[in-house]
Amino acid sequence: MNQLKRALNCFLSDQRGVAMVMVVISMIALLGITALVTDIGLLAANKQSLVNAVDAAVLAGAHELPEKPLLARDTAVSYALQNGCNPDEPEIDPVTNSKITVTATRQVDYIFAKVLGFTSGTVSANASARVAALTSHRGAAPLAIPDQEFDFNTRYLLKQGSNNDGSPLGPGTYGALSLGGTGARNYEDNLKYGYQETLRVGDIVNTETGNMSNPTKRAIDYRIDRCNHVPECTATSFDPGCPKILIIPVYEPNLLEDGQIKQIKILGFAAFLVERVEGQGNDNYIEGCFIKMVAEGDSDYFQVDYGLRGVKLIE
Ligand SMILES: [Zn+2]
Repeated sequence: MNQLKRALNCFLSDQRGVAMVMVVISMIALLGITALVTDIGLLAANKQSLVNAVDAAVLAGAHELPEKPLLARDTAVSYALQNGCNPDEPEIDPVTNSKITVTATRQVDYIFAKVLGFTSGTVSANASARVAALTSHRGAAPLAIPDQEFDFNTRYLLKQGSNNDGSPLGPGTYGALSLGGTGARNYEDNLKYGYQETLRVGDIVNTETGNMSNPTKRAIDYRIDRCNHVPECTATSFDPGCPKILIIPVYEPNLLEDGQIKQIKILGFAAFLVERVEGQGNDNYIEGCFIKMVAEGDSDYFQVDYGLRGVKLIE
């Protein structure tokens, strides 16, 4: 009987020892998993922070291309720092006319993995953005301007008055487009707010006949009243979201039928800053200063660049 008791005690104490060893092994394993999960999470969070920073940097920098490559570079660095990069992290590749690339690298010190002998890891992120001719746009004005070389900060006639016989669209047309419908009311809404559907290079759209001087004046005055920027926007200093900016389809001037252009084919888009409706009564006409800027829409490097461009991430 005593022998049986001793054997039982011995068995139980062995079991306790085994259990203790199992607990220690489990704790080490748990610590290891905690270290991995925490420090992998730390690496992932830092990586995401760099991705956000370089994406913001190239998108902002590309807005200054191709005219201002040095400003593009400075803008990219500034956006990288504002969006989570430390000053020594962003590196800018040589900026080309159409592309800017930023890489950021960061060493991340581990918290738990040090127990396992790992002290730090490295994460990096890289982004490139490209600027190219805008090939589609939602919000265009219902006007059209013939294909030509545009000079920056120069005034262009965007809509004719009734006394203007030289309309490039032919007699009875004043430079207006019929977008998503016809008539003065539709034209006025499109001129005030921008046409709410997307126009694309290659689209064929109808011209609108009639002078529509009152709708023109109301719509342009509406836009001018809504420039609350200080100082007021001009062709040399403007907010890209300003309502005084008209984005206008550029057309191929060769679809003449019976001396009148009834449809135009869109070749691209150009931007103009309008300051007022000129002329009196039925003779009113719209003039705007040609500007270069970036707007929302698709873009294509192989299309004609009319100074209005789109920016997109390419890597
Ligand atoms: Zn403005």
